[in-house]
Amino acid sequence: MTVLVNPKALVDHAPRDFKMLIDGRWSEGTADPIERVAPGHGVVVSRFQAGTRADAERAIAAARKAFDTGPWPRMTASERSGILLKAADLIAARAEELAFLDAVEAGKPISQVRGEIAGSVDIWRYAAALARDLHGESYNTLGDGTLGVVLREAIGVVSIITPWNFPFLIVGQKLPFALAAGCTTVVKPSELSSGSTVVLGEILEEAGLPKGVVNIVTGTGAEVGAVMTSHPDVDMVSFTGSTGVGKLTMANAAQTLKKVSLELGGKNPQIVFPDADLDGFIDAAVFGAYFNAGECCNAGSRLILHKSIAEDVVKRVAALSEKVRVGDPLDPQTQVGAIITPQHLEKIAGYISGAADGGADVAHGGKALDLGRGQFMAPTILANVTPDMPVAREEVFGPVLSVLTFETTAQAIEIANAVDYGLSAGVWSKDFDTCLTIGRQVRAGTVWMNTFMDGASELPFGGYKQSGLGRELGRHAVEDYTETKTLNMHIGGRTNWWMPQTEKLA
Ligand code: NDP
Repeated sequence: MTVLVNPKALVDHAPRDFKMLIDGRWSEGTADPIERVAPGHGVVVSRFQAGTRADAERAIAAARKAFDTGPWPRMTASERSGILLKAADLIAARAEELAFLDAVEAGKPISQVRGEIAGSVDIWRYAAALARDLHGESYNTLGDGTLGVVLREAIGVVSIITPWNFPFLIVGQKLPFALAAGCTTVVKPSELSSGSTVVLGEILEEAGLPKGVVNIVTGTGAEVGAVMTSHPDVDMVSFTGSTGVGKLTMANAAQTLKKVSLELGGKNPQIVFPDADLDGFIDAAVFGAYFNAGECCNAGSRLILHKSIAEDVVKRVAALSEKVRVGDPLDPQTQVGAIITPQHLEKIAGYISGAADGGADVAHGGKALDLGRGQFMAPTILANVTPDMPVAREEVFGPVLSVLTFETTAQAIEIANAVDYGLSAGVWSKDFDTCLTIGRQVRAGTVWMNTFMDGASELPFGGYKQSGLGRELGRHAVEDYTETKTLNMHIGGRTNWWMPQTEKLA
């Protein structure tokens, strides 16, 4: 029996109202606000402005003006870095408020969100450091008559669109790097979990960011996001979300040839060999599958187990799954919180019943949990899954683990690569050659060896295939928000192409 922690009523919590930040002014929309019902508590916790096309256009105009004539791109990197560092300190000071908002709006466990806010502070500080190291190249090797200088210039106005599953962490993987480069921005959080991003606007104001540099427009993707991805005054779109909307974003941006950075879905395998440290792996399997209720692009949603250990491993993963604490996102003991919406819960349940109908065995869980409030799903293990089943190929985005088996290394690699995604993967073996073979042949942006879902601000993150385009984090993250300009400088008299150098011009 899974240990459950029952959600408590948020009786003392009056819904919080959020505004939008456009051109340095906090404004209300013209339409009725969007009410957010907490997925773990079943009550309205936040009200966001329902931004319109016109709001998005005003925000883009403000960002354009701030870029073309404002102080931000013209400041020294040291000045920009100072403001980013101040913002990091203010995020740390308001960590508990931010963690509460993400926990209630997205149903995430509070202890986990506290970790994400702390991680975010680290990323803001890392971006502040990179701001000061942004530089181009010089070529003093092109002969006596030429000096070449390659400049890195801020790309301009950047649209930043984020999903609901890591509201504060993901905006932090984009915005500080765009700001470090000297860009100006329009940010649209998910309509389901906008609160912490709006608070970030207050933090950036207090940190001293000039007006119009960061504009925050809340509302739906269809209304606000569509303008942000197609408007001719936007130079780049940085998007994290589903692969479907990512494709739409790219198509919209193509009309004016904007640069596009996409962080999309995943169907990430953990490949396990018989010589692996199984104790370590069992914990990583449970963590990889159920972290953030499986609503995680990096979720290790496929176990690809060597046939000889599969039965034993499934039993052990099921035994540990029993102990996972599901329940109130605000209880510090909770490990798995709520599912984002009732509709999404139905979608997850559909994947489970579809797999069972197709011949998979429900080795653990398999059902929604009634905790009296909100919507929850039991950690679920599906054994005897075959690579052709939808549950093995598509992103379920719930706490559902699919177990597949292999006999040879080549087979393991083939199964791992037989999906449209390529975000991340894990390999478990004590053998160096095995780990490196998998590491080199699995087509994924990150391959963990004898661990899973570790990360650091220094390490690039992003996907192969339909998991995305470009990389976030790492030392090149700021460069992603720049254009390259060549200054080709001639020294001394010019050599004319139409007559010998010795002839005099008439
Ligand atoms: P969606 O793609 O539905 O939404 C992402 C964002 O795009 C939201 O802000 C949404 O607005 C907006 N949007 C929706 N339609 C449009 C449109 N036509 N034009 C522009 N913007 C639009 O994803 P989810 O929010 O459901 O997030 C879950 C997905 O995110 C998963 O597939 C997951 O794998 C992926 N993800 C990827 C990560 C990565 O780094 N690779 C990390 C985290 C999540 P709104 O919903 O408010 O209407």
